[in-house]
Amino acid sequence: MTELNVEYRPDQLSSDELLNLLHQIVGGRSSGSTSWIGAEDGVLLEDFYGPKPTMEELKTRIADEQAFVDEKLRSEEPVFVNTASGGRRIHKASCHHVRHTLDRVECWSFVLSGYATLRPETIRGVSRMPELLTRAEVEALNSYVTCQVCAPTLDHPRKRHILNSGPMKALSFGPHHMGREVTTPEGEWLGTLISHQRIVTAEGIRSITTTTERVIEGDGTEKYTVAPKAD
Ligand SMILES: [Zn+2]
Repeated sequence: MTELNVEYRPDQLSSDELLNLLHQIVGGRSSGSTSWIGAEDGVLLEDFYGPKPTMEELKTRIADEQAFVDEKLRSEEPVFVNTASGGRRIHKASCHHVRHTLDRVECWSFVLSGYATLRPETIRGVSRMPELLTRAEVEALNSYVTCQVCAPTLDHPRKRHILNSGPMKALSFGPHHMGREVTTPEGEWLGTLISHQRIVTAEGIRSITTTTERVIEGDGTEKYTVAPKAD
């Protein structure tokens, strides 16, 4: 059997992923009326790849995908799209970089239009399902980059950031932490950091952390989670 290295973009399903998906679509049914074209050397492709989904099965799958997308898009809240390629890049649903992934019929058009001559080992051209997120879901991501083309309005536009690098000791506070929101490692909001004082006494170190909400004293080993720097 010929091994073909089929090129695909990162936002498209690989041939292996598509074959797995096709297995799901036929759902364990035995080979039916439709057959992959082109048995080679007398080997039935079904024996290697399983049955070919019928056109009806494919269309049902596509309709399910579209219903899933449409349901999300109908939300009252704004919906953002996370592209699957590499780092998280967040778009508005209307952005031309991601709009095509929302139209599942278009995503499958290459497969549908070539259905009669489809070969399992070269099947390709299907964009991944878009990841549709609410604003809160986007902000909960550890990191993201906003698309510069559609420039979605988020808390941290035009900025890559890494949230939650982990709680840090009060003694590690520096000038660049001032003005940022702090929480306890358990997530209790403590306000915005105003100052941190480190006082060496005979008993040891006194650490005084002052936020807009309160003054917290400790020995410097008390931990806080610091929000990313605002723009
Ligand atoms: Zn965009």
